Amino acid sequence: MNVLVLNCGSSSIKFQIIATDLEQIAQNADQRLARGIIERIGGEAVCSLQAEGKAKQRSTAQLRDIRAAVDFIIRWACTQESGVDAIQSISDIHAVGHRVVHGGERFQQSMLISDEVLHGIDDCIDLAPLHNPANIRGILATRELLGAGMPQVAVFDTAFHQTLPEQAYLYALPYQFYRRYKVRRYGFHGTSHRYVAYRYRNLLNIPREQVNIITLHLGNGCSATAIKAGDSVDTSMGMTPLEGLVMGTRSGDIDASIIDFLMSKEGLTAQEIEGLLNKQSGLLGISGLTNDMRELLDEARENNDRRALLAIELFCYRARKYIGAYLAAMGGADAVIFTGGIGENSAEIRARICRGLEWSGLQLVEAANASMTNGNEGLISAADSRLKAYVIPTDEELLIARDTVRCVNKVQR
Ligand code: AMP
Repeated sequence: MNVLVLNCGSSSIKFQIIATDLEQIAQNADQRLARGIIERIGGEAVCSLQAEGKAKQRSTAQLRDIRAAVDFIIRWACTQESGVDAIQSISDIHAVGHRVVHGGERFQQSMLISDEVLHGIDDCIDLAPLHNPANIRGILATRELLGAGMPQVAVFDTAFHQTLPEQAYLYALPYQFYRRYKVRRYGFHGTSHRYVAYRYRNLLNIPREQVNIITLHLGNGCSATAIKAGDSVDTSMGMTPLEGLVMGTRSGDIDASIIDFLMSKEGLTAQEIEGLLNKQSGLLGISGLTNDMRELLDEARENNDRRALLAIELFCYRARKYIGAYLAAMGGADAVIFTGGIGENSAEIRARICRGLEWSGLQLVEAANASMTNGNEGLISAADSRLKAYVIPTDEELLIARDTVRCVNKVQR
């Protein structure tokens, strides 16, 4: 089954085409056929498209909206020139999987999209006003372009965290706000945390119930998750992705009173404060330079830039603090897993996070840590480390394709 995986944002779409079915899933034999990204949708869009094993094709095109961009992707895949040999016409696309950011409390697993499911996603717009509308537009565009008969599946960022117990998901606010508006922790990056937990289980050849780990997704957005007996029992992002770790441009945890304080001192509106916390804070805010960890590490190394170093230190300290908190919350764990752009590629950040965790029994092996970059997967701690550490590259698109196949075949994961 050829699955088109779509991740629709407000002005960009990431996609992959993956060939997989139940047998291929069981044998880990899924095949990636193509991938790409279209950015700056709404005007002169920038397209980067690539059939697997072939050169990247870059171009620009006038793409007015998400529908035009989805149409562009499908048409590209069907042309000879794309190099996606398995796709000759739209009848070679068998299902479409969508990343949907917010599933609220309603969606605890991936769903075959019906009108009812679509309404459910619509009902969650309040909780993710920037993301869910773009996801819905992607679903409707696909329905229009590929027909109502095309199976479409929604894979929610929040679904994996629906196993959080009340004590972890409730904020200590008046309870009626949870009752009335469902104000609570939902958590995000669920597909990534779930995928690396699955890979860990595969690597160790253990059943799901024996997965007791802390996963750190460190990319431009960052989150930590405590996974006990295979289930997410706590996670650092909250009702929105703002809470928790220090991120590229998000502050992560702050004292909520700072909002009111800054509003009055700086004469800012609530919307401006939200922009400040989401887009001007984190690594960018502290360093005053960039949200890009690679650039910060270069600045710190080459120019000994104090603020770059400070941003790196805050980032690592917060991550270490969450590992400690989750070890306490879970009553100990077997491993810490690093994933995401920073987690997968930066041995230095991993080492800085782990430094000071020796008390927990984590013994990092420098050579193993240094060797784990560019998509490598494996152990970076001593084999007899009480708390082990692994690097496991994430692959959210693969999990979306697999869930799509399972939903179409009505198989529970
Ligand atoms: P993601 O959002 O998962 O694509 O991750 C993006 C982040 O990963 C950016 O901050 C990049 O600077 C960072 N990153 C990618 N490669 C490296 C690297 N080799 N060293 C440090 N950070 C990296």
